Amino acid sequence: MENTLKEPVQDLDSSATVGGGVEDVYGEDRATEDQLVTPWTTSVASGYTLLRNPFHNKGLAFTEKERDAHYLRGLLPPVVITQELQEKKLMHNIRQYQVPLQKYMALTELQERNERLFYKLLIDNVEELLPIVYTPTVGEACQKFGSIFRRPQGVYISLKEKGKILEVLKNWPQRSIQVIVVTDGERILGLGDLGVQGMGIPVGKLALYTALGGVRPSECLPITIDVGTNNEKLLNDEFYIGLKQKRATGEEYHELLQEFMTAVKQNYGEKVLIQFEDFANHNAFDLLAKYRTTHLVFNDDIQGTASVVLAGLLASLKVFGGTLADHTFLFLGAGEAGTGIAELIALEISKKTKAPIEESRKKIWLVDSRGLIVSSRKESLQAFKKPWAHEHEPVKELVDAVKLIKPTVLIGTSGVGKTFKQEVVEAMAAINEKPLILALSNPTSQAECTAEEAYTWSEGRAIYASGSPFDSVEYNGKVYFPGQANNAYIFPGFGLGLVISGTIRVHDDMLLAASEALAGQVTEEHYSKGMIYPPFTNIRKISANIAAKVAEKAYELGLATRLPRPRDLVKYAESCMYTPIYRSYR
Ligand code: NAD
Repeated sequence: MENTLKEPVQDLDSSATVGGGVEDVYGEDRATEDQLVTPWTTSVASGYTLLRNPFHNKGLAFTEKERDAHYLRGLLPPVVITQELQEKKLMHNIRQYQVPLQKYMALTELQERNERLFYKLLIDNVEELLPIVYTPTVGEACQKFGSIFRRPQGVYISLKEKGKILEVLKNWPQRSIQVIVVTDGERILGLGDLGVQGMGIPVGKLALYTALGGVRPSECLPITIDVGTNNEKLLNDEFYIGLKQKRATGEEYHELLQEFMTAVKQNYGEKVLIQFEDFANHNAFDLLAKYRTTHLVFNDDIQGTASVVLAGLLASLKVFGGTLADHTFLFLGAGEAGTGIAELIALEISKKTKAPIEESRKKIWLVDSRGLIVSSRKESLQAFKKPWAHEHEPVKELVDAVKLIKPTVLIGTSGVGKTFKQEVVEAMAAINEKPLILALSNPTSQAECTAEEAYTWSEGRAIYASGSPFDSVEYNGKVYFPGQANNAYIFPGFGLGLVISGTIRVHDDMLLAASEALAGQVTEEHYSKGMIYPPFTNIRKISANIAAKVAEKAYELGLATRLPRPRDLVKYAESCMYTPIYRSYR
């Protein structure tokens, strides 16, 4: 028997199946369905094919009754085990691997074999597995993507598909898509241009959308746009799986992107969220500006990072006292992350102080590869850097900028590791009782300084958070817990909030709402350990709270289309979240 996609059936509770197979009617998390439209019903065949179908396979957890009803007798060894025992066994197996990439591959195989079990592992062991499916290991996976590629986990759109993108999207088996994460692979983490191998990023991010934010996996679509690569190593690699040509730029690039954006809206409607991921900054800002008025778009590198960092800063005010406007900020790196964070901080200060944004920006300074961004450099600066060109003499070195600007907060977003050298951290510690140091560049090798360095060089006074995770550090008999200023705190809940409210455009106020929601989850106990972010263990609860605040803002702004507005948005968000518990089959 074959897998068949049936026409939509009229009765939501219908239990009719094709060929006696398993039917999936989206039972527990049906709340996100538009109730007027009957969902697609997927019927899958029984027997051997059922065991090969990752969406329905339960492996040894198929009950005796299910084994009889679905022709599984003899295809499985006799034992019947629970999902919990399966999880225990798999975690035991995964922990045996010493090399993180092996763990990544084991998880990918599990996702391709038994999707619900994959998500159960990820949800229940989030702190342990996040560094595998996401930064830093996902970076290594992208670098080696050509050799570990087995099956497509998303859609590839290359220049060869120009003029046919709508048809290509229709080849994807799922019809109802809520969230797309798309990259063109030009700036993968801090690793540069990885071309089509960047696919690991949308795949990983969407796994987190489901595990952390509860968006159904069937409604997530990873996409990689391949316009070539300027990475010579890949171009000369006989095993490279992308287009072997230099990157298309200018009109050719923008025409392909335009066709893609149009096709997505045509195929999935107004409410599909398109998350731009790891585009180089010369395209990222333009794409966001161009499509934010016509599509539901979100750039995680610019906006998600900004929201998560702002949340950490708001939380740290409980340690420092005072307001955001009392602080002076210095950034190393003035790209997507740096200027995105800077702008959201300025916006928050403006909202709170009622000062014009131009005034608020004066509290914020940025250093790029040519030194401090100052007004004398204005003519030669890229557009997104210009608002930060304040009056000051030119300064070349970061350490001198620290001494002259006297920041209370130092933020690294350059993608270059080891740039917060001892003298830089010591200068911060000389100026501040509690210097706030955020080393955000990913992966771990690119962090501006390690947690240990920050604590040691500041004699245990720094409040530190990083982009990639670091273990706790013991210094002078005290244990410090470095925070992870990780976008994964924000984007899953943010996206869920947009999806459950049927929002059609992203507004900056929603980012501020998400930051405040996250900051509100940090408790006294966390502060006492030096943490400015809550632990990831409660991430689904955190995501539900963020989703509720984002949705609330969307309703307030008149951008939400799902009406009437649910009264209790937190409860509603929770009720919409996907759970990976196995279903019982008749
Ligand atoms: P980007 O390419 O847009 O910006 C990099 C900036 O750093 C540019 O302004 C560049 O001029 C500057 N720069 C490069 N080398 C420098 C040097 N030696 N000294 C000073 N400045 C230098 O990249 P991006 O999207 O802003 O990302 C930067 C880094 O931040 C990456 O490593 C990325 O992984 C990381 N990041 C982390 C998070 C997070 O942890 N939450 C989120 C987003 C990005």
